[in-house]
Amino acid sequence: MCGPRQVPCHPYEVPPVVSSRSYTGRHVGRHRSQQRRARVPRALSPGFVLPTSAAAALVVTATGASMAESAPQPLEFASSQTALVRSQQAADDQLASDLAARRQDASIQSAAFQGRTEAQARAARSAQRKAAAAAKAKAEAEKRAKKWVRPIHIWNITSGFGARWGTHHDGLDLAAPTGTPLYALSKGTVLKAGWEDSFGNKVAVQYWDGSVIWYGHMSRIDVQAGETVLPGEQVGLVGNTGHSFGSHLHFEVQVNGENIDPAPFMAEVGIQLGQ
Ligand SMILES: [Zn+2]
Repeated sequence: MCGPRQVPCHPYEVPPVVSSRSYTGRHVGRHRSQQRRARVPRALSPGFVLPTSAAAALVVTATGASMAESAPQPLEFASSQTALVRSQQAADDQLASDLAARRQDASIQSAAFQGRTEAQARAARSAQRKAAAAAKAKAEAEKRAKKWVRPIHIWNITSGFGARWGTHHDGLDLAAPTGTPLYALSKGTVLKAGWEDSFGNKVAVQYWDGSVIWYGHMSRIDVQAGETVLPGEQVGLVGNTGHSFGSHLHFEVQVNGENIDPAPFMAEVGIQLGQ
């Protein structure tokens, strides 16, 4: 379809239009450039018919330009575009929602962790307080346990330690009415609680410092052998049992197995003699 003497391949390759009337086989006075300026492409001239392929290209170009400039988009295309946008928006929303959820989860976990940490700190502080209170109470209890108190509140010393009636009196005789309470001097362990010949009802207590103290002639015994007693705890009552001439407490103190004068011992531990 494209050839030098038939249809040109391109509109601008159209050969010069030469009138058969003026054709002389040579230039006829007009400059060649003027000739060219006057020349009009055949494709733009009235009545020119483009070959099919070229015409189709022009039509497509014209149609495309027209669509780009002013033609509305087809409804189907607009709808699919809207759906795409909506889908993208939904994806974005989901992503934002997921992120928010993850942030919230992290926040909750952080709060829970913080809560657990604070609870543990509180528990630790509480344990420390209780331990400190327990240690203080134990120290106070030990201090209380090691204090010394009188064996009897009211007494009259009727016999001292030492020689008496041609023999040796191994303790103090503290006269008091029968039924007067007798107390443990400090924290100790009951070694004996029962009848013993001339001592009548007798209680022997070994205290925490190693000293042993006897209570004799008791009308009643309130403790048992092996029992732990604390300062001021009642061990029995004053009586007149055994080899006794009148209601009184026979009171002996033994240190390292030897009988000693109770008076200086009690003075040493802070127990005041006398009323
Ligand atoms: Zn005595």
